[in-house]
Parts: sequence; structure tokens; C-alpha cells
Amino acid sequence: MNNISENTPELVAENCQMIKEMLRDFCEKEIRPNIMKWDESQEFPIPLFKKLGELGLMGVLVPQEYGGAGFGYHEYVTVVSEISKVDGSIGLSVAAHNSLCTGHIMQFGNEEQKKRWLPKLASGEWIGAWGLTEPNTGSDAGNMKTTAVRDGDHWVINGTKNFITHGISGDVAVVMTRTGEAGDSHGMSAFVVERGTPGFTGGKKENKLGMRASETAEMIFDNCRVPADNLLGEVGEGFVQALKILDGGRISIAALGLGIAQGALDAAVAYSQERQQFNQSISKFQGISFKIADMA
Ligand SMILES: Cc1cc2nc3c(=O)[nH]c(=O)nc-3n(C[C@H](O)[C@H](O)[C@H](O)COP(=O)(O)OP(=O)(O)OC[C@H]3O[C@@H](n4cnc5c(N)ncnc54)[C@H](O)[C@@H]3O)c2cc1C
Repeated sequence: MNNISENTPELVAENCQMIKEMLRDFCEKEIRPNIMKWDESQEFPIPLFKKLGELGLMGVLVPQEYGGAGFGYHEYVTVVSEISKVDGSIGLSVAAHNSLCTGHIMQFGNEEQKKRWLPKLASGEWIGAWGLTEPNTGSDAGNMKTTAVRDGDHWVINGTKNFITHGISGDVAVVMTRTGEAGDSHGMSAFVVERGTPGFTGGKKENKLGMRASETAEMIFDNCRVPADNLLGEVGEGFVQALKILDGGRISIAALGLGIAQGALDAAVAYSQERQQFNQSISKFQGISFKIADMA
């Protein structure tokens, strides 16, 4: 979470305003007409993310030298909350792509790794996934069972991650693995695994009650051989890296919640002004009109 924008407060405010205006148009045209279709079919709309990439919103925090927008967290929160006002699923996927997978490579990748993966992620050409959670280790992620064992100039990964955003459709994943003793917070390491690597497949997709256009699925590693160059940072640093990435993830989830709440309030106010009972809109009745007046 070390991406502190060096922009002046005035420029940050201008950027946020520009993002709001751009996203209001984009969401009305590209997202709102499809919300029910995507939700009912649980379709993860990949082409939409390519369009968001063209707007610079798949690498919000990525420096411009790696193809990103080079913004800071104020702009990032604006992006996630504006999208989530209209569709929380899309907000969740944008957040997971930006702050988890892309953020991890940006913070802990070496120069060669950043040049290799960040431009594709920031442009939206590739969608990112980030795998920490396992069936029996959610909050207790330090007890993960997925292992990586060194074999020459490769590491061999075995195990299953679940509840992973873009677990099937992600083109590249950052995966936390055990490389040391169970229970040792310095016994875990993070690797980048590209889709198409033999032994790496997507598994079961969750049938969720909400956020249904955001894909949540298993990632399965079966003797998956990953080049040693794909290790992020040092051996044993993976868990500490993951906790730092989750600090940024909490900002994402707060922005998501804020956007969803604002979207729900906007919809409720609009409905109260349209719905007629006793020959007037229900927004004119005291219980509702007081609330709307409070918001003004
Ligand atoms: C839509 C969605 C997308 C996700 N995307 C990703 C992703 O991209 N990558 C990834 O790695 N994971 C992802 N996750 C997984 C998510 O990070 C886990 O769900 C989360 O870590 C919680 O784990 P759990 O569901 O196993 O709950 P559990 O750990 O079983 O917790 C269940 C309940 O017990 C409580 N609890 C647990 N331990 C304690 C304690 N010590 N004290 C008090 N209360 C406690 C929890 O707060 C919770 O309310 C996603 C989950 C969802 C729902």
C-alpha cells in the first residue's frame, strides 16, 4: 500500500472529478443495461474489462512507465465506488484485479517482473487473479496447505485455492504457497503463474447469492512447474507480502461498500419520488421527506 500519490490535493480533486464524469457515462452505457443479464446468467463479462483497460482503469495505481494511470488511492477509491454504485460485481472484479494481483506484482516484483506483467494487466489485455484462500484456511490463511517445492530452476506447486476472483478467467495469478514449515509465517512464498502453464487449471465456479457477475472459483495446481524467476521477492516472504496486499484490499472493500450504499440510496430516493400513493409521491410523506431533506 505504498502508492502515495505525489499529486497536489487540487490535482487529485480534478482527477477524481474527471473519473466520476467519465465513469458516469461509461456505466450508464456499458454496465447498467446489462446488470440483470449478467446477474441472472452469472456471466463474467470479459469484454467490459478490456474497455475499462482502454480507459486506464485496470492499472489505476500502476506507474505510467509500466502502462498504468499512475494515480493514487483517492482516484482508486473514486473508480471502485463509482462503478460499484451501478454494479457491485464489476466493482469487485476491478478492485481484485487492481489491488490484489496487479498490486502484488507492482509492490513486490523486481524490475524484470514488473516490465513483463504490469503492462498487460494495466491495459486490460490480461485479467489478474490472486490466490491466498483455501477450503480450510480463510481467515487462518497462514495454515495453507498448497506447497511449492524447489526442483532445479523450477518450483513445483501442488494444492487447491478456492473463492478466487477470476480463478477460471484470470490470465495470470499471484499464488501464495507453503515453502517452509506449517505454522511458520516466514514459511510461505508468492509466485506468478501464467494461464496455460501445465498443471494449472480453473476448478468449480461458486454459485453465489450476490456479486454474481464477478467470477469466484477454484484454482487447482497439480504438479504445476513454475520457473524460479516467477518467485516474487524472497523465499519465505509470501505471507508477509500477502498481509500487506490485504491492507490495500481493505480500502477496496470499503470503496465497494461505499459505492453500493450510495447506489442503493440513489435508487431508493428516485423510487420514492416516482411512486404515487394517496395521490402524491411517497417522498412527500413526512417519514421519507425528512430523510431526503437531511441528505440535501
Ligand atoms: C466474493 C468473494 C471473492 C473472494 N475473492 C478472493 C480472492 O480473489 N482471493 C483470495 O485469496 N480469497 C478470496 N476470497 C476469500 C476471502 O478472502 C475469504 O472468504 C475470507 O478470507 C474469509 O475466509 P472464510 O470465508 O473461510 O471464512 P472463515 O475464516 O471460516 O470465517 C467465518 C467467520 O468466522 C469469523 N472468524 C474467523 N476467525 C475468527 C477469529 N479469530 N475471531 C473472531 N472471528 C473469527 C470470521 O470473521 C467470519 O465471520 C473471496 C471471497 C468472496 C466471498
